[in-house]
Amino acid sequence: METSILIIYTGGTIGMMKDQETGVLKPFNFDHLYTYIPALKNFNYQLDFVCFDPLIDSSNMAPEHWIRLTEIVHENYEKYDGFVILHGSDTMSFTASALSFMLENLNKPVIITGSQLPLGELRTDGRENFITSVEIAAAKMDDTPIVPEVTIFFENKLYRGNRTFKFNAENFNAFVSGNYPVLANAGIYLKYHHDLILKPNFKKLKIHTKLSDEVALLKLFPGMSRTYIHSILSAQPLRAVVMESFGSGNATTANWFLEKIENAINQGLIVVNTTQCLAGSVDMEKYETGKKLSDIGVISGKDMTSAAALAKLMVLLGEYSDNETVIKKFQKPWCGEMSV
Ligand code: ASP
Repeated sequence: METSILIIYTGGTIGMMKDQETGVLKPFNFDHLYTYIPALKNFNYQLDFVCFDPLIDSSNMAPEHWIRLTEIVHENYEKYDGFVILHGSDTMSFTASALSFMLENLNKPVIITGSQLPLGELRTDGRENFITSVEIAAAKMDDTPIVPEVTIFFENKLYRGNRTFKFNAENFNAFVSGNYPVLANAGIYLKYHHDLILKPNFKKLKIHTKLSDEVALLKLFPGMSRTYIHSILSAQPLRAVVMESFGSGNATTANWFLEKIENAINQGLIVVNTTQCLAGSVDMEKYETGKKLSDIGVISGKDMTSAAALAKLMVLLGEYSDNETVIKKFQKPWCGEMSV
């Protein structure tokens, strides 16, 4: 049977073109896709398209879009061998993280890609990113998909989506995965690092589409005021906070700060500790400045990115009303988002 890939176009630079009069980037009609990438016709795959309407710059991505993407994959799961999502790069890591938790038992490739330059530009990176993503989505070994997980393909590299961070706003090489190696490299050959890629579990796809917005992100910085901490911790309704702390999970030991965090935890707030660093893990036993946090009940996010921690909490809080279950499930790895 012919391999079939569903391409879901959400928006972002990849599908934009310059308005000749104003010079501003705006989405182009996807019917012209084959004009920009005639090579697509050379694939022996069936390519079908779904377009978001309206198309969005990924800075406008919201949980409702993640739910839509999850439902599109779910509804078309049996019909297609793989999925390619064209998405703006700005919030791509957040979407990849969210989808990795929302699509439980994923046994088919969901490759998210985009570009820094629009497809219509001569030097576009979008053409390579797009074509290679389709190839990866179609790749099989012994009739089983080679990459049955949510990934990001950008500038010759395939990353586990929930490990990524957009670190560069200009380079074609825009993503980093500090705590997990790349899953594949694209050169003359597509080199898959099979031992690093999740294995299919052959269970039925189960989707999670109840997402909670009762979460917040708290970035620490030297000189932060009491009002800043207070305003975030007292947001209502709020059930969990992802704290981005320093280094290996350290924070100021100022009494006022620890007291505020401890009071919030005692009142039922879940506080998760992630690092502001792009690589490495939270280890609250290493320094006094970390130990104090673990003593008052802060949960370690280990080597998860803050985007992955946020997305995981949104899914868990959407499903469970008791903190104990949320914390227990949060601490377990689901789909390669944290090291064991
Ligand atoms: N602002 C664009 C977006 O994220 C940038 C891009 O596509 O890379 O939608």
